[in-house]
Amino acid sequence: MHVQDAEIVMSAVDPKQYPGTGFPEIALAGRSNVGKSSFINKLINRKALARTSSKPGKTQTLNFYLINNFFYFVDVPGYGYAKVSKTERAKWGRMMETYFTQRDQMKHVFLVVDFRHEPTIDDIQMKDFIEYYDIPYTVVATKADKIPRGKWNQHFYQIKKALNLPSDESLILFSSETGEGFDKAWKLIEDILED
Ligand code: GDP
Repeated sequence: MHVQDAEIVMSAVDPKQYPGTGFPEIALAGRSNVGKSSFINKLINRKALARTSSKPGKTQTLNFYLINNFFYFVDVPGYGYAKVSKTERAKWGRMMETYFTQRDQMKHVFLVVDFRHEPTIDDIQMKDFIEYYDIPYTVVATKADKIPRGKWNQHFYQIKKALNLPSDESLILFSSETGEGFDKAWKLIEDILED
């Protein structure tokens, strides 16, 4: 897909604030600072439409990005940020759960993890949650440029095993720096949107 038009439409906390257009949505979940915003920006060829920040835990709303007036990327705020209070965490949990369980036009979740490291307990819980609710998902392991190619296979299968993924296709290797995985991710998005 050639992205001609991308705009942030709204930041929402409550279902009443979700866009009412009915376009399909692809959600992005992942720990703070894992590279979610960079992943979106890379896919839509923008330097900074999605807010990237080295300060974890900044985005606390669902951010809807309208792409080509056709579908939305929905950036779900990062989990696993130690410094937020219990109350904040609970609020965030409810917002995420409401969106994931009640949003009919949400077609697929990209769970973004760090290719360098073993998935964390938060990553595993998020994947279990998505699976429990029977939501189609794909794991995106980003920052691949930070690992030498000779070790890609090893990291790939470590992550696949730790998350107990059903197939190799459930895991896409990505880099926002080099564009690794760009075509694969877009091909998948097109397939999701065609369904
Ligand atoms: P978010 O909190 O998940 O949205 O994470 P960001 O997209 O803001 O990225 C966090 C940090 O990781 C930033 O400093 C990015 O420049 C860096 N980063 C993100 N993706 C990549 C990648 O693929 N490769 C490298 N080398 N750095 C990345």
